[in-house]
Amino acid sequence: MSPLATFDVVGKRVFLRCDLNVPIKDGIIKDDGRIKASLPTIQLLQSKGASLIIAAHLGRPQGLPSPELSLAPVAKRLGELLGQEIIFTGDLTGDAVTAVARSLKAGQILLLENIRFSPAETSKDEIERAVFAAQLAQLADAYVGDGFGAVHRKHASVFDLPALLPHCAGLLVAGEVEVLKKLTENPARPYGVVLGGAKLSDKLGVIENLLEKVDLLAIGGGMVFTFFAAQGKEIGTSLVESDMIDSVKALIATAQEKGVRLVLPTDIVVAPTLSADAQPTLVSADAIPADQMGLDIGPLSAAAFAAQIQECATVFWNGPMGVFEFAHFAAGTKVVAAALTKVVGISVVGGGDSAAAVRALGFADSQFGYISTGGGASLEYLEGKELPGLLALGL
Ligand code: ADP
Ligand code: MG
Repeated sequence: MSPLATFDVVGKRVFLRCDLNVPIKDGIIKDDGRIKASLPTIQLLQSKGASLIIAAHLGRPQGLPSPELSLAPVAKRLGELLGQEIIFTGDLTGDAVTAVARSLKAGQILLLENIRFSPAETSKDEIERAVFAAQLAQLADAYVGDGFGAVHRKHASVFDLPALLPHCAGLLVAGEVEVLKKLTENPARPYGVVLGGAKLSDKLGVIENLLEKVDLLAIGGGMVFTFFAAQGKEIGTSLVESDMIDSVKALIATAQEKGVRLVLPTDIVVAPTLSADAQPTLVSADAIPADQMGLDIGPLSAAAFAAQIQECATVFWNGPMGVFEFAHFAAGTKVVAAALTKVVGISVVGGGDSAAAVRALGFADSQFGYISTGGGASLEYLEGKELPGLLALGL
């Protein structure tokens, strides 16, 4: 039974930290998966007679309010999904918020504005965070942590605030941990991890740690070009993190030492620019033109990745294989997603963009073993790191 089932919230105001960090373009939510994933906890708390003050972040506003990262569209969508009005004042702290929070009736929901509009939320300064957390604690009688996508962050609303109130893990966080445990505690082998996405620097530490645990590591997406650069290949104008090249060289050597199969693409779809109407060309990974950028793995690579994935008994995938947002560069991601649906064993997709990608490409959530709402959080869990937001909840 989930710990939330017996957590006493009757007639209480609950501060609920959710992960509502959904992709939004021009005010339109591209994938509401994380909002939907938050509903069970919200509804359970409501059914127990709690009122809710929900906090969440959107993107990385660097501690400054920015209109394009407002949670207003999320408030609207959440209201539609729940069939009730969500009170959204556009504030995060202040007298108005306090007054509304105090006046909430059972079942009512106040959604705070993007919690990262306050620099204190993400501050490295413990005291600055503590002061902010104390301010947030004033709003509620209890805390429920359900923002799995942020549990790897030592942030005020994730780490400091739960210490100040009676606290409990939400259903989503508890469920995520249950699945990821299966991947870390004695996974069925072969165990493969497929990584892609844009930023290598976000994931390099994860890759280093995973080399200790996995049998297969397949790499695509924008991060692969730093691998190619480390191998001395021409990468044209592809995404590259030059300061990571030495680390990648070391990583390739470690993979070899440990007998981890490191699978890199052999063909690449390139284009002159990153745009929807850019003319795609298929080239060998050894022949990327100097004036073009790699935007997807090619069909040979996708087929090779798929074959390797299907041989695994446990697979974790994070990060699209290409710029799936544009149809010309979505094929690699689609083939890899399809391979994951055929895994006999456990297949887990993690990451905001990855989850959005599989849905946008027409797959149903039910085709995968599990779609994790966390990218960085799931990866750090798999690494075996202690996650501040889970520690704070006693998990
Ligand atoms: P997740 O949110 O699932 O953890 P990331 O945020 O790491 O995934 O990466 C997703 C982004 O990576 C997507 O927006 C995608 O367009 C981008 N991407 C994938 N391949 C490339 C590439 N070759 N060049 C540039 N960007 C890429
Ligand atoms: Mg992302």
